[in-house]
Amino acid sequence: FTKNRYKITRGNYNYLHEEHIHYFQNLLGESRIVMDLSDLEKYNVDWFNQVRGCSSIVLKPKTTEEVSNILRFCDLNKLAVCPQGGNTSVLGGSVPVFDEVIISTELMNEIVDLDEHSGVITCQAGCILENIDNYLETKGLIVPLDLGAKGTCHIGGNVSTNAGGMRLIQFGNMHGNILGIEAVKANGDVVDCLSTLKKDNTGYHLKHLFIGSEGTLGFVTKVALQCPARPKFRNVAFLGLQNFVKVLKTFKLLRQRLAEILSAVEVIDTPTMEFIKNVNSQNSPIGEYPFYLMIETSGSNERHDEEKLSGFFEEAIHKGLVLNGIVANEPAKIQKIWSVRENIANGFKARGSKMLQYDISLPFKDYYNIMEPIREYTKDVSETVFGFGHMGDGNLHLQIILKSDVTEKIRSKINDFVFEKILELKGSISAEHGIGLLKAKYMDKIKPQSSIKLMKSVKKLMDPNGILNPYKVLL
Ligand code: FAD
Repeated sequence: FTKNRYKITRGNYNYLHEEHIHYFQNLLGESRIVMDLSDLEKYNVDWFNQVRGCSSIVLKPKTTEEVSNILRFCDLNKLAVCPQGGNTSVLGGSVPVFDEVIISTELMNEIVDLDEHSGVITCQAGCILENIDNYLETKGLIVPLDLGAKGTCHIGGNVSTNAGGMRLIQFGNMHGNILGIEAVKANGDVVDCLSTLKKDNTGYHLKHLFIGSEGTLGFVTKVALQCPARPKFRNVAFLGLQNFVKVLKTFKLLRQRLAEILSAVEVIDTPTMEFIKNVNSQNSPIGEYPFYLMIETSGSNERHDEEKLSGFFEEAIHKGLVLNGIVANEPAKIQKIWSVRENIANGFKARGSKMLQYDISLPFKDYYNIMEPIREYTKDVSETVFGFGHMGDGNLHLQIILKSDVTEKIRSKINDFVFEKILELKGSISAEHGIGLLKAKYMDKIKPQSSIKLMKSVKKLMDPNGILNPYKVLL
């Protein structure tokens, strides 16, 4: 219980006692506390069944004040906590490592305000991303973030992981779209940075401390999100290509010809398509090709957008860049094409620990060059190695599906090899999923000591007792 499979030793935290439980019961009432073993399961295990903790309590506050009281009490009593949103994190950041108290945002799901002039929505951290988007649709607005987990992930989790997703190429990331944050520090103090102004250059931009810090610096309770006008017209194209050189040339042409209406560029390789076929019984909508590109345009003038897309398509075929493709503009057809991409992750859940997944950024010239050495290195243990992802942002999701579970030693050796290759190619070992638990031990290798030193000082200042999401990000 004090040392787990990750060879992490339990920190010197208190264990949960009767008097702690009584305090939480008085604060929240019994109905907002989970202690039943079978009910605890879904909070202790991550989405992909890779990581398991053994917390014996989940707390479900509804207000910032309740979060503040919980944290103040935990800090005084040296109880470690694990903030949790939709628990869709990929790197074990959202589940406890030992017996941390889980604080879930499940019941913090109120929309506080919408300014229809500026498009700024203010809401509690536990609002589900898709619910926010459905609400915004009725107002002619859109959330500037779209990911496969949108029906489950919470906006607080999105902020805490600085989530990327499909629309980043058009709208940018959370650092650009989040105007304000309210968060609670480890000692219970509420930090009010909940500005809704687009421009506010007054002092340090503290909200950025909470964006992407994965629950290690504070508990996000409210966010103010800038939302653009909902594009009236969407087109999706699904293209088949012969090799990666042509994928790159097509991408360049796409940026030139579609410019401001280009809202997503996703790549899928052949082994990924085979995986999709096996897992979801879904075939490529255009037959088989070595590479596929999924492109989306979002704009406000139907004719203009369609002309741009068909102009691009004709030119790409004429130049021999694209071998085949289809275009759709009806919502049902668009959804069907998108489902090919969005359903890839369905198969990962069943694989659990028989899989290694990497979310990496690489310069475009080497984006796909990394695959071959990894296939070669893992050929004895892997069933298949495939790559897909948000190519428009230089972000590749590289997947190694293992023949059977491997020892922690082999897993570590493969990780070391992959990460070395990424660093050799001047890439990043985490493009959009963060560090969580699974990548924390690599921080020393990937960040300069000067950055790590400053990160540790910031952590010490914000959370001197280290109760917030221990064992994650910084070891
Ligand atoms: P959780 O998983 O619950 O938590 C994530 C981290 O944030 C944890 O460290 C947790 O402690 C912390 N946290 C959560 N809430 C708070 C809070 N209120 N205050 C402080 N800390 C908090 N990610 C992408 O970036 N792009 C994608 O395209 C993408 N696609 C995905 C597709 C699928 C099918 C799945 C399962 C995941 C995908 N992800 C993607 C990863 C994941 O969905 C995102 O990281 C998401 O932002 C996590 O939100 P969540 O509410 O589930 O957070």
